Amino acid sequence: MVKQLLKKYKRSEFLIGVSSGHSKEDPGAYCDATEKYEYSYVEELSFKLQELLRELGYKVYSPDPVSDELSYPDHLKRSVDLLNLHEVDVALEIHLNSWSTPNASGAEVLANEKGVELATLVQEEIVKMGFRDRGVKQPKNKYFLNKVEGPAIITEPGFISSEKDVAIIIKEGFQNEFCVSVAFALDRYHGIV
Ligand SMILES: [Zn+2]
Repeated sequence: MVKQLLKKYKRSEFLIGVSSGHSKEDPGAYCDATEKYEYSYVEELSFKLQELLRELGYKVYSPDPVSDELSYPDHLKRSVDLLNLHEVDVALEIHLNSWSTPNASGAEVLANEKGVELATLVQEEIVKMGFRDRGVKQPKNKYFLNKVEGPAIITEPGFISSEKDVAIIIKEGFQNEFCVSVAFALDRYHGIV
């Protein structure tokens, strides 16, 4: 009990920024197998993750839901501006991957330079859900990663264009498992576990 309270107390020192990578105006990739857009998955993942992190004691800020009036990339710019304005300690954006051929599969986490350490921990946890390990990447062309001032990561747990990955993504419990994986990685990152 005391241990639990202590953890909660430690977590309350950190402000975690969580953003879903898409909006109704910019729904992202389309999943042929489930006939749903990426948006419907990442929006739910983002809300669930925020809920879990708050329950655990973390402070959470989210620029979601993004305004439907803003088109991409205006909503992305707005999200990044708000995350910086709130001076989040780390910023996470949630996506699912997609490719033109069905054989691309696996989980990866993208990071800016400051975010590599956290990205490595998140990647370690999310591959345990059964995804192929595509590793941590530092792309140079991502507005979110370039413009967030602190550590920033983009999680891409699986391809919605891959049958194998979709089987994991639509499994009952996937959302919870994903959120717990990210929360556990954040605990490790902050030296709480
Ligand atoms: Zn996306």
